[in-house]
Amino acid sequence: PGTHLSDLEIAARTVLKPIAEIAASAGIPEDALEPYGRYKAKVDPALLSAKNTKRGRVVLVSGMSPTPAGEGKTTMVVGLADALAASGTKTMIALREPSVGPSFGMKGGATGGGQSQVLPMDDINLHFTGDFHAITSANNLLMAMVDNHLHHGNKLGIDPRRITFKRVMDMNDRSLRTVVIGLGGPTDGVPRETGFEITAASEVMAVFCLATDLADLRKRLGKMTIGYSYTKEPVTVDDLGAAGALTLLLKGAIKPNLVQSIAGTPAFIHGGPFANIAHGCNSAIATNTARSLADVVVTEAGFGADLGAEKFMDIKARFADCAPNAVVITTTIRALKMHGGVSLEDLGEENLEAVRVGLPNLARHVEIIKKFGIPPVIGINQFTLDTANELKIVTDWAAENGIECATADVWGQGGAGAGELATAVLRALDSPTNFTHLYDLEQSIEEKLLSLVRDVYGGEGVDYSPKALRMLEQIHSNGWDHLPVCVAKTQYSFSDDPQSLGAPTGFRLQIRELIPKTGAGFIVAITGVLTTMPGLPQVPAALRMDVDQAGKAVGLS
Ligand code: ADP
Ligand code: MG
Repeated sequence: PGTHLSDLEIAARTVLKPIAEIAASAGIPEDALEPYGRYKAKVDPALLSAKNTKRGRVVLVSGMSPTPAGEGKTTMVVGLADALAASGTKTMIALREPSVGPSFGMKGGATGGGQSQVLPMDDINLHFTGDFHAITSANNLLMAMVDNHLHHGNKLGIDPRRITFKRVMDMNDRSLRTVVIGLGGPTDGVPRETGFEITAASEVMAVFCLATDLADLRKRLGKMTIGYSYTKEPVTVDDLGAAGALTLLLKGAIKPNLVQSIAGTPAFIHGGPFANIAHGCNSAIATNTARSLADVVVTEAGFGADLGAEKFMDIKARFADCAPNAVVITTTIRALKMHGGVSLEDLGEENLEAVRVGLPNLARHVEIIKKFGIPPVIGINQFTLDTANELKIVTDWAAENGIECATADVWGQGGAGAGELATAVLRALDSPTNFTHLYDLEQSIEEKLLSLVRDVYGGEGVDYSPKALRMLEQIHSNGWDHLPVCVAKTQYSFSDDPQSLGAPTGFRLQIRELIPKTGAGFIVAITGVLTTMPGLPQVPAALRMDVDQAGKAVGLS
C-alpha cells in the first residue's frame, strides 16, 4: 500500500507515537530519557546500565558491491527489524546519522525508504539533535588551538607544513579543499596552506563512533596526531592539552538519539562516519546500549561486505566487543544484472542470463562473511520490476549452496514484507558462530593488507607508491604497526578499479598513501583518488528542496 508515494509523503502520513512511549516500550526508564521535542530524545547510557543487563545479539546488514541502481541496506535494516519486532522478538535498530552535505548533493535522505523508514525523517536528515554540530565544533576548536599555538611562539615546535589535521564542515564544498589561512598581518595568525574536510570524514567522527564511554572518548581524542614537529616527532592532542575541552564539547552528543520506525520499532540513530576514510557504522555506544535493552539489534555497515562488514569485524567489533551473530547480505536483482553487464537504462528488462553472470559478486560477499565465522543470510531486496524467474535464480542458487536466503518486500510492505527473512535470520542467530578477526594486530601493516587483498578482495598482492613506502617506515618508527588497517577504496569493485565489476581476480591493490589515525586507532590505506571533501554535482539535490506553506519539508527524498 502507498508505494506510489514519495518517502517524504509516506513519512508525513505516519502518525508518530510520543517518544516517551517508544522509550517505555524499549525498557528505557524515564530518568534516562532527555526529550528533544516530541519525537526525538537522547538516552543516557550511564543511567541505564544498572537496570539493563541484556547482551542482545547483533544482526549486521551488509550488501553486495554497490551499483548506481541502489541496494537498500538501510531500508532492509528497518524492514527486517520491524518484522522481527512483529514476530515477538524484542528488537532495536542502530543506524548512522545522515550527513547534510551529501543529502543536498546526490544522495537525498538516508533514513530508509517506502514503508521501511525511521522517523521523523526530515529532522533526522537535517540538524537532528545537533551531534554533527558538536563534532564539527570539537574538531575546529582543536584547529583553532593548533594555529593559536603557532601564533604564540610554537613551543612544541610544530612544523606548519606538516600539520595533517584540517578544519571540517558538514557541507559538500569543493572550493574549501585547499585554502591558505593566517593572511592579514602579524596579529592575524601564521600563514599556512591547509584545507577543509567534511565532518563525516573527520577523525573526531571516527573517534566519536568507536569510543565505548566518555573516558575512552577522552583517551582517544588525546591520542589523535595533529601533525609533526620540525624534528618529525608526532604531535598529539594531549601534547596541546586539548582533550578535556574537546570531550566537554562532545559530552551531550555522545548520548545515543532515540527515534522510531514507521511501525514504532525503537531506533538509535547515532554517529555518521564515512565508510571509506573511516569504518562506516553508527556509534559503538549506540550499538551496545541497544544490546543492553533488546534481544536483537539490527545495524548496518556502509558499502559491501568487503568494506563495511570487514571494518565492522576487524575494527569496531575489536574495540567495542560487538561481533555480529548473523550478517544479512542485501542483494538486488538489479545489482546482480549490473554486475552481469547490463547498463542502468536496461535494468527494466527481464534478463536471466545477466542475473546468473552477476552471481559471483554475491558469492564472494558470502565467502567473506563465512571467513569471519558468522552465518550469512542473503536478503533479496525486492523491486517492483523483478520477475519471479529472476528471483528464482538467486533462491535456487542459495539453496544449492546451503546458504540461508529470503526475498523481502520491505520497501512496499515494511515489516509485513520481511516475515520470511526474519525467520531465516532467527534461524541463523540460533546456529553456532565461530567469530574470528581476519588478521592479528601483531602482524605488520603489510601483512594485514596482504591478507585483506588475498582473503577478502580476491586479488593477488599489494603495490606501494614511493610515498606509501616512506609512510610505512614512519609508521614503523612511531610504533603504530599494531593498529588495524582501514582501506579507503572504491565501493563499486573488489579491486581498486571502479569499472571492474563482478568478481575480478588476479589484480594487485595499489596503495597510494597511508594515513595514521592514532586516536580512532587505525591506519587508513588509500587506494586510487579519495576526496575527504566532496563537491556538489552539476544539478544538486538542493535544487529540488523547499518548504511548503505549512512549513513542511519538500524534496528531501
Ligand atoms: P543503502 O543503505 O544501501 O545506501 P538505502 O536503504 O538508503 O540504501 O536505499 C537507497 C534508495 O533506494 C532509497 O531512496 C530507498 O528508498 C530506495 N529503495 C530501497 N529499496 C527499494 C526497493 N525495494 N524499491 C524501490 N526503492 C528502494
Ligand atoms: Mg544506508
